[in-house]
Amino acid sequence: MSQQNLEALDVEAIREEFPILEREFDGQQVVYLDNAATTQTPDPVVDAMSDYYREYNANIHRGIHHLSQEASIAYEEAHDRVADFIGADGREEVIFTKNTTESENLVAYAWGLNELEPGDRVVLTEMEHHASLVTWQQIGEQTGADVEYIRVDDDGRLDMDHARELIDDDAAIVSAVHVSNTLGTVNPVAELTELAHEHGALSFIDGAQAVPNRPVDVGEIDADFYAFSGHKMAGPTGIGVLYGKRDLLEEMDPYLYGGGMIRKVTFEESTWGDLPWKFEPGTPQIAEAVGLVAAIDWLEEIGMDRIQAHEEEIARYAYERLEAEGDVEIYGPEPGPDRGGLVSFNLEGVHAHDIASIMNDHTVAVRAGDHCTQPLHDRLGVAASTRASFYVYNTKDEVDKLVAALDDARQLFA
Ligand code: PLP
Repeated sequence: MSQQNLEALDVEAIREEFPILEREFDGQQVVYLDNAATTQTPDPVVDAMSDYYREYNANIHRGIHHLSQEASIAYEEAHDRVADFIGADGREEVIFTKNTTESENLVAYAWGLNELEPGDRVVLTEMEHHASLVTWQQIGEQTGADVEYIRVDDDGRLDMDHARELIDDDAAIVSAVHVSNTLGTVNPVAELTELAHEHGALSFIDGAQAVPNRPVDVGEIDADFYAFSGHKMAGPTGIGVLYGKRDLLEEMDPYLYGGGMIRKVTFEESTWGDLPWKFEPGTPQIAEAVGLVAAIDWLEEIGMDRIQAHEEEIARYAYERLEAEGDVEIYGPEPGPDRGGLVSFNLEGVHAHDIASIMNDHTVAVRAGDHCTQPLHDRLGVAASTRASFYVYNTKDEVDKLVAALDDARQLFA
């Protein structure tokens, strides 16, 4: 379906489900453009979690009482719902974690620490979030595997010739971000995965900025592992997802140990439960799983393709308005099919933190800093940038407020 054919969203109706967007500071309504950090939570998600606590709060698996049974069913079925949402092959392939960061660590420790050896190569990209970059660096240090980075070109895209050089028979795993949280670049993750597989390597895709904003099918990408966070997709904090191919997860040892993940325990030894429980020890995020399901229902009711089209339209508008200012440097590719719904930029002569502070005076919420991509900022030759990131409830009027606030920044700081 071409984007032109997508029915426009009723953004006003959508905004009514987010009372937080009505908040005012110093008489000005909040303009929330920090969605790549955390999205806001619509009423149906809050209500679902509240219903859980009011109606069927109990620990799962261990009880034979009614409340525990209801909670257990809701928690287990949440895995099915997520599997269906991302095209996984059943609940066994869906592990609930705390967030994307924990999903990265799970694979790095449970797979990387056991499988990697000196001479192996871990291939990352220069635009990786610290969640993956720092984690694989540590595993590299502990195993002796080399960690190398696919270059980002001056347009903010991956240098695929360099990718083909690095992904050779020494490569053991390729870990790449699907959509960059700093550049907005949408990476060719299916191509990277294919390259990895051609050389017997695995692929791990960081989908933290993809699953919330566009349709994602892990089967189409053929990723071995895929990770994302609930709090960036209209869902609650405290829950993330690790998708993994079943045969790989079955072969892997657990990452964390304790109750809920075992089959049989004696004083001498223990054996592990079935997937996905083998990777979910202790009391899990039951209310959060309920909230995540409500968020997925809510997103799917709107339609992921329409959400993507809306965000891209707002981001294109922001890009064009900022570019027209003449003294704004924007990072990442020009608007197009390989750019998602965020814009990072710098205003000539003004520090990103000062811009964010002026924006805050206008109640425009943006993020300033390195966005957990310090090496990428080094590569861009700047210490920090300001990032405006959009979601389904944002409007072009809000972008106008962002651009208008730049005038104050110029007057005060430039
Ligand atoms: N990866 C990317 C691309 C991100 O944007 C983020 C969060 O900003 C993360 C990983 C880490 O997500 P979390 O903090 O939910 O673990």
